[in-house]
Amino acid sequence: MRFEDLNLSNEILRAIADMGFEEPSPIQAQAIPYILKGEDVIGQAQTGTGKTASFGIPILEMVNPNENSLQALVLCPTRELAIQVSEELRKLSKYKHSVKILPIYGGQPIERQIKALKKGIQIVIGTPGRVIDHINRRTLKMENVKMVILDEADEMLDMGFREDIESILEKTSKERQTIFFSATMPKEILDLTKKYQNNPQLVKV
Ligand code: AMP
Repeated sequence: MRFEDLNLSNEILRAIADMGFEEPSPIQAQAIPYILKGEDVIGQAQTGTGKTASFGIPILEMVNPNENSLQALVLCPTRELAIQVSEELRKLSKYKHSVKILPIYGGQPIERQIKALKKGIQIVIGTPGRVIDHINRRTLKMENVKMVILDEADEMLDMGFREDIESILEKTSKERQTIFFSATMPKEILDLTKKYQNNPQLVKV
């Protein structure tokens, strides 16, 4: 399998080549086609498998750069992961200049994030507590969100974010595409996938 076989735009293929990726990793080869088709996916994969690009590439293909509203939301357990994911997305968006990506997390002054959000961010990568905070302040609007990705979902549950995650998902449209990535699949995750996904495809590496 080659990236060229995945129906990707030239902008994304060029960015992938610049990043030095030669071929899709197993999780990418399995997950990208489903996500591009709009299906819900449960990806069971550890860090180091290329899981970030497996949802990052489809997000960038799906986001409409001419629409200045939040379209994709990635939830992460930690500030470090939120920054890492947004850096990978920025590299992948190298030739999609107008796509605006922002990490938001606790511990950073909220005013700075509010100012940045006013620029019309299309992709937010955030920690659940801070995302809720922005939703409550109406500085983050969920009505145009088409994709929600839970990255390291098991870690987020271990850290006590279940209530926040559910309250964020409840605020998005039922038509949204919902993607779970998790290294492990305890019952609590499966319960959440049953509640918030439609016929998810399970991909595992
Ligand atoms: P991740 O599992 O998403 O944290 O990715 C681990 C590392 O592998 C990151 O540095 C990625 O940039 C890199 N990576 C992701 N996909 C590929 C690929 N297809 N080929 C080579 N490296 C990759």
